[in-house]
Order: sequence, then C-alpha cells, then structure tokens
Amino acid sequence: MSILIKNATVVTNDKKKTIYALGAVFIDGKKIKDVGPSKEIEARYPKPGRVIDAAGKVVIPGLISLHTHAGWTCFRGMVEDRTLYDAAVGTYNPMNALMSHDERRRMGLYTYMELLRSGVTTVVEMEEDIEAVAPAVKTSGIRSAMGLMAVDVPAESLIDRTYKVDPALRKDQNERSIRFAKDWHGESDGRITTLIAPRGVANCSEEQLTELRKAADKLGRRIAIHLGWGKLENEVTGKKYNKKAFQYAHDVGMMGEDVITTHCYVADEDDFDLLVKTKTHIGHCPQVNAMRGQIAPIADLRSRGLNVGLGTDNYFSDFFEVMRSAATVARVKTANPMALVSEDVLDMATMGAARALGMENELGSLEKGKRADVTIVDAGMTGLGPLNNPLSNLIWHATMHHVHTVLVDGEVLLDAGKFTKLDEKKVQAETKDANHSAWARFVQKYDSTCATTKIAPLAYS
Ligand SMILES: [Zn+2]
Repeated sequence: MSILIKNATVVTNDKKKTIYALGAVFIDGKKIKDVGPSKEIEARYPKPGRVIDAAGKVVIPGLISLHTHAGWTCFRGMVEDRTLYDAAVGTYNPMNALMSHDERRRMGLYTYMELLRSGVTTVVEMEEDIEAVAPAVKTSGIRSAMGLMAVDVPAESLIDRTYKVDPALRKDQNERSIRFAKDWHGESDGRITTLIAPRGVANCSEEQLTELRKAADKLGRRIAIHLGWGKLENEVTGKKYNKKAFQYAHDVGMMGEDVITTHCYVADEDDFDLLVKTKTHIGHCPQVNAMRGQIAPIADLRSRGLNVGLGTDNYFSDFFEVMRSAATVARVKTANPMALVSEDVLDMATMGAARALGMENELGSLEKGKRADVTIVDAGMTGLGPLNNPLSNLIWHATMHHVHTVLVDGEVLLDAGKFTKLDEKKVQAETKDANHSAWARFVQKYDSTCATTKIAPLAYS
C-alpha cells in the first residue's frame, strides 16, 4: 500500500539536514519513495492508498535504541536508588537466573510496545533468554537486531569474586548464540537481524570471546558487548590476564568496525585511543549511566571521529528523555552549553545507530529508497509547542506521550495513539502478572542470603 504523509514539518536528517516547514513523505510499500515540499509531493502522487494529514505535527526518522534489554523492565522501581554493584550482583544476576521463559516473553513484548509508543522503530536487543523475546518482534511489528547475551562465568562466581569459568555453560551458550544468529536472521519479514552478543569481559572467558569472534566472522554478523561500565572489569581481566579491560577486549577481537561497545565511562586515554584506532562504535546510554553517577565523555569522543548511537539500556522507555539526557549530561561534563546540540543528538539517535548496525543505507534518515520507518510527533499537544524550532522543541520538550503515529517498513503500528497490532491493556495486564510472579519467587529464594531482601518484601509476601 502507498501512504502520503502531508502538511507536516519534515525533519529529514539527510546529509544537508534538510527540514521542510510544510513537507510530505510518500511511502510505497516498505520504502520511502519521495520526500519534499507538500504541494509538490501531493501533485506527484495524486492517488495514494492512504493519506495522513500531519498538519501541526513533526515527522522524523524512526528512532533507534542501540542498546536495550527488553526483558529487564521487571527491575523498574527496584534498582534505581542503589549502587551499580548492588543492582548487578544482588539483583540482575539472580533474577535473570530465575525468570521463566514466559515471564521474559511478556516483559519483552511490553518493552517493545513502550518503545514503539516512544517513536523507536529499531531496537538492539541483548538478552539472556533471547528466544523468548524474539517472537515479540513479530507480534509488535517493530524492527530489532538481536543476540543472546552469552556468559560462561556464572553469576555466583562473580558474587564470590572467584570468577571461575564453567566450560559446560560456555558450550551451551556459544551453541545457542550461533544457533540463534543463524536461525532468526531475516525472520519477521526481514525485521529481525541477528548479532553475536557476549555480555562483557568480566562475564566471558577468553575462550568464549575468541570462539564468538570466530562465529561472528563466519556468519557475517556484528558484535555487541558491554565495555567500560565498572571497575569490576579491570579487576577480573587484571587478575586473570594481567591486562586492562579495554586492552583485553581488543586482544580477543571485541573491538573493530563491526563492534558496538556499550557504556565506555570507566575508561582512560589508552582505552579511548584503542576505540579510535579500531573505529569501534559506541552505544551511549546517558539516562541509565547518569542515574549511576557516571557518564562517558561523548562530546570529546565524537570530536575524535568515533561513531556514537544512543540506547535505553534497562527499564527506561521514553527515548525523548534519553536524547535529552545525552545533551544535558554532555553539557554538565564539559561545562559547555554547546557540547552537544539538538542536531547532534537526533543524529546519534538515528544515523549514528544506523551506522553502528551497518544499516546506514536503509535507516536513520527520511530519504528516497530508505526503509519507511517513520515517527510523527504531535506538536500541538500541551508541553511541546509553540513550535518555533522543530528540532530544538523535540529534543528539549517532547516526551513519549507526544508521539502520534509510528510506521515500520511502511506499516502503521501506532495510529493516532492507538496500537494497530497490539492490545495495549492486555499486554499491560499480562506483564503485571509476570512481574508479580517473578518477584515473589525472587524474595522467597533470597530472603535471608541476599542484599536484595531490602526490596519491599512485604509487597511480595
Ligand atoms: Zn546493557
């Protein structure tokens, strides 16, 4: 079907950063066929299958979250006011070990639904139970690059700080990673692409990372990994390999033009030089990092030529908040109000992420021939107008609740605020049930042994 989006402010994010004050986008099937001034496009395509009159609205390229764990929304409200170590070791690891397939599936679908409402059309997804989350891509209509978040250092070996490797776990995890990368690539009408996604240098042995690098090369898949998120990484790689975390990652093939390293805030000049030398892409999650009192020097890294995309990471779903955080924390970090401006932020959230995925010719801007992944924001709603500068208005004042309509591959998934493929109330109710059952088991198991018992046990008793 063809769709004409007309009478809109169109922010193309093309190379010239063209903005049409009264513009239109013509979509034919899954692709954008034309973009330009509304009157011209309307005259050129007089009989569209559907017309979306977007007067008073801003049309932008679909946003891309370069780093997400969709099944981790169960941690919302439970870990924000805690240290990272306490959250990771005391909560994430044990909970991830006991969440059921069905609980993860429900959380994943709920997160994808929220991200769609937030104008996100592509999600880079790393997950322990990736097979549970993948079907949600089909159900929701979203696009996702996905990989099993593989480990071979069990959670208990991180807790007791022995960092012991489990070879049987490695065999299972690497086989699953490769099987998922083979079997799911191109699924959901091509909207799923796959990644090799080891969790990080503290959680994966040298053998595991070397095997996964070989698999990525053989299959032609990109690698996504956490790096530079905590002192624990340097402690582990120093003790086991006598190397700093970034150097170790480099030496086992976890840097390069086909690698997305997320976080990079516990890093020094040597580490940044390695990223620059290898042209490694950076996933930047400013909202979740700032919550932990940390932030990578992103403005500086971009000025050195590094490519950066933005991610939600865990339990945040308002991508406008993520974009706003990127600008805010960069300015605080540098004491420079021009460190990152709105144009930089939108570019990271679209083209930067598309480049990191190797999909710069398909995603990231509203241009002829690209995939029709489009977000329409209602600038007439309270809190966003008056619309004096569409880009600055959006980055500094929009929220996910201003998102009006979202298309992926030319299919309308959110239509004037209503989901077309999802029953929002049903998804919410099923997620609430899954959340309750998972936390009830968690509190029962760890009540006397784990620091996380301080988490509202009464609510689950
Ligand atoms: Zn993460």
